[in-house]
Amino acid sequence: MAEERKVLCSGGSQCGAVRYALYAEPYGTHICHCRMCQKAFGAAYAPLTLIRYKDFAWTRGQPASFQSSPDVDRGFCSACGTPLTFAHKGSDYVNLSVGSLDEPDRVRPEIQIGIESRISWTAEIPQLAEQRTDQALSADRLARVKSYQHPDHDTDDWPAKNSAGFEEPGHGP
Ligand SMILES: [Zn+2]
Repeated sequence: MAEERKVLCSGGSQCGAVRYALYAEPYGTHICHCRMCQKAFGAAYAPLTLIRYKDFAWTRGQPASFQSSPDVDRGFCSACGTPLTFAHKGSDYVNLSVGSLDEPDRVRPEIQIGIESRISWTAEIPQLAEQRTDQALSADRLARVKSYQHPDHDTDDWPAKNSAGFEEPGHGP
């Protein structure tokens, strides 16, 4: 009889077409500054956290993947482009993009790697002036902000429906 495993954390792509579950706490969280991760994430650096495949499952859909080097596949949502995984071929482990976790603050980076490619201004981020969203946007514009992204928890119903039962725009392939 199959043992019912407890989901400790979940995550997925912004559109919700791809969702995953973790059955153990991720660990080995790190920031990668390498040029390949910058490009793959479209970002200044890539926060990644590690899990064994045996403690991991895709729970909705499957990622597409791009082989970014002979030994590495990078998984992403083919419907919306969210970067999801980094994995060495044949490894028992997969790295997950921290931003795709439903609770990204659950993990804490322990090390920065790939620092030979680090973008110089990343060290200056903590010194930059700070604003909350309600300070950066007018009240009028803020009132019109409505996320079409998947919520930060698992859902039974996808694509998401609005209260009238119609598919929300921005969801689905
Ligand atoms: Zn997507």
